Amino acid sequence: MIQRFVESVKTLFTGKRRASKPRAPKRLTAEQHGIDRSLVAHPAMRVCETLQKAGYDAYIVGGAVRDLLLGVRPKDFDVATNATPEQVKAHFRRAIIIGRRFRLVHVMFGAERIEVSTYRALASVDTVTDEHGRVLADNVFGTQVEDATRRDFTVNALYYGPTHEVVLDFHDGVKDIRARRIRMIGDPAARYREDPVRMLRAVRFAAKLGFAIDEATRAPIASMADLIENVPSARLFDEMLKLLTSGHAVACIMRLRAEGLHHGLLPLLDMILEQPEGERFVLLALSRTDERVQAGKTVSPGFLFATLLWHEVLVGWRAREAQGQHRIEALDAAIDDVLGRQTEKLSIQRRYTADMRELWMLQPRFERRQGSAPHRLLGHLRLRAAYDFLLLRCAAGEAPAELGDWWTRFIDANEDERQQLLAAARSDAPASGRRRRRRRGGQGGHAAGSDASPA
Ligand code: ATP
Ligand code: MG
Repeated sequence: MIQRFVESVKTLFTGKRRASKPRAPKRLTAEQHGIDRSLVAHPAMRVCETLQKAGYDAYIVGGAVRDLLLGVRPKDFDVATNATPEQVKAHFRRAIIIGRRFRLVHVMFGAERIEVSTYRALASVDTVTDEHGRVLADNVFGTQVEDATRRDFTVNALYYGPTHEVVLDFHDGVKDIRARRIRMIGDPAARYREDPVRMLRAVRFAAKLGFAIDEATRAPIASMADLIENVPSARLFDEMLKLLTSGHAVACIMRLRAEGLHHGLLPLLDMILEQPEGERFVLLALSRTDERVQAGKTVSPGFLFATLLWHEVLVGWRAREAQGQHRIEALDAAIDDVLGRQTEKLSIQRRYTADMRELWMLQPRFERRQGSAPHRLLGHLRLRAAYDFLLLRCAAGEAPAELGDWWTRFIDANEDERQQLLAAARSDAPASGRRRRRRRGGQGGHAAGSDASPA
């Protein structure tokens, strides 16, 4: 009670009135900031030059400046300007205005896209919030100082003008980058209350960049973690996806757990991570995803979420089979349960849930190694993804390693070899469909996989 009162008084004084004292930025020259201009992609340069020639401010902002200061080639570029979206659009042939709440411009150059946003104003006393203090609308244009102050962390509030090669630093972000530290702009508790997703962002940036979270920025997280529950599920999904595809998903998940932030995030993820079998599978899936991202390969969100929720499906599937439900129907029903529960909190979009269901439903088909079933499966459009999923299950010891090996050989084999493989499978598989169905827990329990090795 008292704590709540103290917090609401704090909001009153630090929250909405925070940062009403604008400060002049530090201006760093090329020699001082040391950014290698050749790391700036051509389209980003073009956008800044064009807007400047037209008399506007234009700076590269956000993650790209952080990367440039760290000597890394940024994967995408955001530009901030004092031009309105209409003014920006008028200067480019291929530009579209997107967003309803806060409009941005996407300027396209071939397949590359530069996101251009107009400086935004700070939350003010009349900003609309929900009953927990979460800001619901912040769609007013503002000045550059305001734009810098409404950003989350100091390292994200740097502006780089590639034509003049100047860095504008309003909140000592360069110092924090050099000290490898994530520090919130303003009062951390008030900023988390405005937008609880910032807690996840702090963890994501720390894990991704290998930075520490400044103590004052970290301290309120433990007691404020529950505020995540008020965040709309679509927003949470976007943030989770960023986190999981950051190339540092394992580090992010470890850090989320360390900060007590994993509860209620992926609603069942905490439970899964608490079961050794589930934890092993999820961490293996995430480390494979990290490898792919780091190697510059794409990752499919459907596949990713299918791996995260597989154990939950498995538990339901086994329970239903144990009650005597038909194997395939049991799987189908278990999938319905899991997707139903997950979408309540985390609205996984329909196009992803369709992929997930397909991947899961294809799993028992790998067990059928008789007659024409394996050949039919070879012709399935989603075979590759389903097979990768199977290999992951084998590597985690949840499906028999022998099954994954058999399919690896079968896929690569010529027709004669395939016939031999089918014959071999027939001779070591006494279980007919009927017998298998009666076996509790299905095929491939823990024991089968204890000697599994990554395929
Ligand atoms: P990444 O490398 O992951 O893209 P990023 O810093 O560019 O990192 P984005 O989510 O693309 O992150 O956001 C771009 C910028 O917008 C951030 O650097 C930050 O300045 C600002 N920003 C984004 N989300 C928030 C938020 N919730 N609160 C305040 N500022 C934010
Ligand atoms: Mg970005």
